[in-house]
Amino acid sequence: MNDFKKILLHTCCAPCSIKCIEKLKEDNIIPVVFWYNPNIQPFKEYEIRKKTLLTYVQNNKIEYINRDEYSLKEFISEIYPHFGRERCEICYRKRLSETVKLALERGYKAFSTTLLISPYQNHDSIKKIGYELEKKYGIKFFYRDFRQYFYEGQNKAREMDFYIQKYCGCIFSEEERYMSQIIKNREKQFSIKLLRPSTMFKNQIIYYINSFLKAGKTIISSQKLDDFKNYEEWIKSLDNKTAFYLVIRKSDNKLLGIVELEMNSSEKFTGSIEYNVLPEEEEKGYEKEILKLMILKCRKYKIEKVSLLCDKSSKDFINAVILNGGILKREIQSDSKSRAVLEFIMYIK
Ligand code: SF4
Repeated sequence: MNDFKKILLHTCCAPCSIKCIEKLKEDNIIPVVFWYNPNIQPFKEYEIRKKTLLTYVQNNKIEYINRDEYSLKEFISEIYPHFGRERCEICYRKRLSETVKLALERGYKAFSTTLLISPYQNHDSIKKIGYELEKKYGIKFFYRDFRQYFYEGQNKAREMDFYIQKYCGCIFSEEERYMSQIIKNREKQFSIKLLRPSTMFKNQIIYYINSFLKAGKTIISSQKLDDFKNYEEWIKSLDNKTAFYLVIRKSDNKLLGIVELEMNSSEKFTGSIEYNVLPEEEEKGYEKEILKLMILKCRKYKIEKVSLLCDKSSKDFINAVILNGGILKREIQSDSKSRAVLEFIMYIK
């Protein structure tokens, strides 16, 4: 049995609120809807989401409190310099903190949030913050995993002709929505392109491997590029944790290099990049372009921190890494050919 009848329900939007409100009511809990979302940008978007929610609660005679605060500069300065995924924790905390404080001020015994219905949010982080605030302010955090009702709620919202947003809220999430398009546009400016291996490049890959052998160099690769017996089988064997790309010059389709982006499974939003350029094409400026393209790929895959491995002799690449904020972590003396490999750490902006 709950020792409260009413809860203050922070509400992110109308579509997410439908099923949360319905489920709370089924448990004889009366939700008082609290609109407080200074994270939603730009202003027109903020207005339409607010208006949709207010129309819904007024039509259904649901008690609500409207804290109408659109504050782009304040929001950005609060999350600065965390423009990556860490920003969400700050954003949840801001909205839930205001909810619990209002609950305390107005004498509610419990608070919650409709953010708990979305499979797109970091559910565990919201839950953790909710319980932290419960402890701090002595107001119960009403936790329930509403995620199983998300799509039902969205369908109902469509039936009711609600406005349904296409991104989470802040301008960063709006950019992420268009990331594939942004990357495609940017890629057009480069003299190279990144392609997945295919049978079309079989002879060029063999030439590539032989060029490294001739130059007495080793290919830095996690995918055993220098000892495959059968090209077609090697393609099939590429592991799916690694995004493996061939660097192709647009003007003549020549294979200039290979680059790998591996997602780190043990640490979220991190990865590693390994790269090589064909010995005869080194230090002609392609290294800089490769790095820029890989930074775009990292953004696409939401990787915020990468470790980069490169040959110590690759001056162009090392300069490009340093210019992009890369920090030297260590030097690895790798093999009998006394080749040194450098490892850098770089944060993706
Ligand atoms: S993505 Fe959503 S939760 Fe994360 S900061 Fe932006 S608005 Fe807030």
